[in-house]
Amino acid sequence: MGGSVGGDRVRAFLGLPLPEDRRARLAAHVEECSRLAPGYRWVPPPNLHLTLRFLGSLEPEILERLSGRLEEVRQPPFELELDGRGTFGPRTSPRVIWLRVKRGAEGCATLAAAIEAASADVGLEAEPRRFRPHVTLARARAEPGRLPELPEPPALEPWLVDGFVLYQSLLGREVIYRELRRYPLDAGEI
Ligand code: ATP
Ligand code: MG
Repeated sequence: MGGSVGGDRVRAFLGLPLPEDRRARLAAHVEECSRLAPGYRWVPPPNLHLTLRFLGSLEPEILERLSGRLEEVRQPPFELELDGRGTFGPRTSPRVIWLRVKRGAEGCATLAAAIEAASADVGLEAEPRRFRPHVTLARARAEPGRLPELPEPPALEPWLVDGFVLYQSLLGREVIYRELRRYPLDAGEI
C-alpha cells in the first residue's frame, strides 16, 4: 500500500469554451462527420473547447491553491477566430482532427504560459509538450481506418475571449465537462 488512495482527486483541465452559438453551428458538421468517419470519436458539441492546460487528477487542496494563483493572472481579452481543419498523426489516418486557430494563437499561448507558471508554483510537473492551440473535433478509435474525405467545417464568427475556465472532466460512457470556476480577463487597472 503506497500513498493515498486518491478517491477524492479531481480530474481537471483549463480551457476556453466555444460560445453556445458557435457550438450550435458546428453540431450539424460534427454529426455529418461522425456518419462519414465512424472510426473516430467525434466530440459532442457541448464539449467543444480549446485546452489551455491539462492538469490530470489533482488533490482538492492543490486545485484550490492553483485556483488562487489563476485569479492573479492578468491579461487583456483577445479575439479568437477558428478557420479550417488540421490533424495530428499520420496523414491518411490521423490520431486527432481539430479546428485551426486563425487569430488569437498568441493570446492563447500567453495565457497558457501564465497557467504553466501558476502550475509550477503549486508544484505540478511541467507540461513536456509544446503548446499548440486547437479545438479537437475527433480522436481516432483503436483502428480508425483511412480517414475519408470530409466536408469543410462551417465558417464561424470570431469572438472575444474574456475569460478562461477550470473544468472538471468526468469520464464515463459519455464524458462530461463541468465548469468549476471562471477567471475573467481584463484590460487592466482603470
Ligand atoms: P476521453 O479521454 O475519454 O476521450 P476527453 O479526452 O474528452 O475524454 P479528458 O481525457 O479528461 O477528456 O481530457 C480533457 C481535455 O484535456 C481534453 O481537451 C483533452 O484533449 C486534454 N488532455 C487529456 N489528456 C491530456 C494530456 N495527457 N496532455 C494534454 N492534454 C490532454
Ligand atoms: Mg482524453
